[in-house]
Amino acid sequence: MKKSKKTVKRAGDATLAIHAGQEKFGIGASVGVEIARTANFTFANTEEMKRWAQGKSSAYIYTRYGNPTLTIAEKKLAALEGAEAAVVTASGMAAISSALLSVLKAGDEVIATRQVYGGTYRLMRDVFPRMAIVVRHVESDLAGIERLITPRTKALYIETPTNPTLRLVDLKKAIAFAKEWDLISLIDNTFASPVLQKPIEMGFDIVLHSATKYLAGHSDVIAGAAAGSHARMEKVRDLIIYLGGSMDPEAAFLLIRGMKTLELRVLRQCATAMIVARYLAKHPKVARVHYPGLPSHPDHLLAKRQMRGFGAMLAFDLKDGLSAARHFCDRTRIFLLAASLGGAESLVVLPIYSSHYNMSLQELRGAGVEPGTVRVSVGLEDPENLLEDLRQALA
Ligand SMILES: *Cc1c(COP(=O)(O)O)cnc(C)c1O
Repeated sequence: MKKSKKTVKRAGDATLAIHAGQEKFGIGASVGVEIARTANFTFANTEEMKRWAQGKSSAYIYTRYGNPTLTIAEKKLAALEGAEAAVVTASGMAAISSALLSVLKAGDEVIATRQVYGGTYRLMRDVFPRMAIVVRHVESDLAGIERLITPRTKALYIETPTNPTLRLVDLKKAIAFAKEWDLISLIDNTFASPVLQKPIEMGFDIVLHSATKYLAGHSDVIAGAAAGSHARMEKVRDLIIYLGGSMDPEAAFLLIRGMKTLELRVLRQCATAMIVARYLAKHPKVARVHYPGLPSHPDHLLAKRQMRGFGAMLAFDLKDGLSAARHFCDRTRIFLLAASLGGAESLVVLPIYSSHYNMSLQELRGAGVEPGTVRVSVGLEDPENLLEDLRQALA
């Protein structure tokens, strides 16, 4: 597929997710995806192998370096993100760590929004100092970010919407800042998915995903991905190759199969999330609902500007705090009590017992989390049934 030009109309997301990377020819080609269930690949002769060793051949040699099934997943994600290239990885954390290490070296500094995925936060807090990489945190509104710039600042890392209060980072502001200071910009696009926002098309350098979530979408695989220019993805791939975070072909199959319905799922999940958010906002036992689709959300207007939909993640605070939140989570029958997100199954979880465990009240408040905050991942069930479940669990 060609990249969008004025004259070339870009195919829509649903079409790209189904067909990108899977050109079919002639009679007898598989419509379904074939899994290249192999560790290694043969060469016709030593001349071909020599060409590979000289970097003149892009032949597959060994699955950690690349594999035809992985290539299909990579082409689909690149097409969806509007990027030149993508790399699929064993997990979201493999993509995040390898991408960050592909742009940072000892002595470099990175500015990161404070509200990032717990694994990313701990990677930056516990591992980067050992490599002499300095992380400076900024709040999601990017207030005072200019003061964090030093001659060693190399990259800007953001995540939006944030977990669990669904605050947004202004993508235009972030990219303008990165351009002004010549920083490499990275964004974790897991919560939105490329259906709701395409940061590469806005000017970001690297988009990252926990493909475990919306991209694969069926709660049955751990997977990750990065997307960006050919040159940047080559560097990310080098680190995936040497640190070993490569994807297994079986996982690539599940990712490809999941991505085919990405748009359908995400748009339906957004619609149901709005119904759930409105229901909760009117419930007498609910103190507050965090959902960018509600006009009461502090980033509602920004969400309208920069996202195609408001997403399918939300959170709410119960008036009676932690005991009420536990009671609710223990009583849901359709909403499963489980970590993770983005699957067909609706989920509830208490941030204080998952992403935000071991934090003081003050730290929780800083993150906008109350002890009685419940996070919800809205799935694909019938909305009426979800509301019935909420009604009985809150009763
Ligand atoms: C789950 C998640 C990750 C980590 O991805 P894994 O696939 O679990 O390694 C990173 N970022 C966000 C926003 C996530 O939700």
